[in-house]
Amino acid sequence: MENIIALCKRKGFIFPGSEIYGGLSGTWDYGPLGVALKNNIKALWWKRFVTDREDMFGVDAAILMSPRVWEASGHVGGFSDPLVEDTKTQKRYRADHLLEEAGIDVKGMNIEAMDTNIKDLALKSPEGNSLGDVRQFNMMFKTHIGPVANDDSISYLRPETAQGMFVNFKNVLDSMHPKIPFGLAQIGKAFRNEIAPRDFIFRSREFDQMEVEYFVHPDQWKDSFEHFQNQVHEFISDLGIDRKKVHELEIGPEDLAHYSKRTIDFEYDFPFGKKELYGLAYRTDFDLKSHTEASGQDLSYFDEESKTRYVPHCIEPSFGLDRTVLATLCDAYTVDEVDGEKREYLKLSPKIAPVLVSVSPLLKNKPELVEVARKVYVNLKKKFGRVTFDDNGNIGKRYRRQDEIGTPFCVVVDFETLEGVKETGVMDTVTIRYRDSGEQERVAIADLVEKIEGLV
Ligand code: ATP
Repeated sequence: MENIIALCKRKGFIFPGSEIYGGLSGTWDYGPLGVALKNNIKALWWKRFVTDREDMFGVDAAILMSPRVWEASGHVGGFSDPLVEDTKTQKRYRADHLLEEAGIDVKGMNIEAMDTNIKDLALKSPEGNSLGDVRQFNMMFKTHIGPVANDDSISYLRPETAQGMFVNFKNVLDSMHPKIPFGLAQIGKAFRNEIAPRDFIFRSREFDQMEVEYFVHPDQWKDSFEHFQNQVHEFISDLGIDRKKVHELEIGPEDLAHYSKRTIDFEYDFPFGKKELYGLAYRTDFDLKSHTEASGQDLSYFDEESKTRYVPHCIEPSFGLDRTVLATLCDAYTVDEVDGEKREYLKLSPKIAPVLVSVSPLLKNKPELVEVARKVYVNLKKKFGRVTFDDNGNIGKRYRRQDEIGTPFCVVVDFETLEGVKETGVMDTVTIRYRDSGEQERVAIADLVEKIEGLV
């Protein structure tokens, strides 16, 4: 992890949040390459779950929502984690994490049992001090709407994007007239006041989620659940992540969230352990029913064919974008040896690599080479966007630099190119060098776009 974090900082992927002020715990800033990677992942997700389908509708709801949303959803009453405090330093920890680290299985364990276990085992804080009582800590960030800060102006930063879709269910029904089954999809920020943010961007206080709420007839939930179970794996393959490192965990009844009848966690083998990457939940009609009761609005669906009215049930595949970025980086991070030298590089899929192609003239100080290379660059840039022009240092160093940020293809204009220009009057061939194998191939400039398209 240390190497990956260092590479992310050095190469402009991810920086600690507010770093010049000493950092702000649980926040991370994405730099130029990080935001490119993130946007490519978002686009891939949106394509698979929205634009490639006929039954999906995108929304982009406000982060600030009426506090009544969070009362109805159960978050005000129950969105909490077990907190325990070091009695000396007053530092706070997740009680379940401390127990897990002590080798205790916390599955199905309630807060009282955690408290008893910690006391029976006389568990100490990581600083070696005694611990206080375990208590629930609500993770929502509270804020005030408008100029007066009192109880009536309280609002929360959303802890999940899901509710933005449930509260717009009726709006989409009335404006788009979709037939069940259909889904709403959203990508956006979520905020959780995590007790102990850790493991780089794995657990932070501000992060992005990509979620689908898919509405079905209650008899259809099993089929849809299975469909999305497969879709999660397909998306993982789209990302180029090794599927062998992804494991399904069926959540036992004692650990299910209050809204769920079935949940599968998709875990990934991160360097710090096997941890949740995504979740898939059968949320029943819990949310639509709760919002119907709390808002007084009818959130049922009328089926024209069968002339029946019912409250749809919901299947929710939920993807953390930052955990996706982390899993792709961990999966891609590779160290090997090239020409007797250690090479550290990112084996990112061409579908998501921040830079797809880097174009160089073999030598920087030969204007004829530079001129042709600029033409090749402009042409590729117009087509793919994710293309850079790199003429710094010698060619070996450029390859290393591009390997390190995961650029799959380097195109080099050399003297053979110029010979071709001289002979034929048009630009002839260039070298294309492949990141993973280090192999090189000569390709006609006229075929370059097609060649690269075939590799993405
Ligand atoms: P965990 O058990 O790890 O806290 P969770 O079960 O609370 O996660 P969900 O409520 O199911 O997570 O949220 C859906 C997805 O959002 C998760 O699968 C994960 O990818 C992402 N996610 C949740 N919390 C965080 C966080 N603090 N930082 C980054 N991503 C997160």
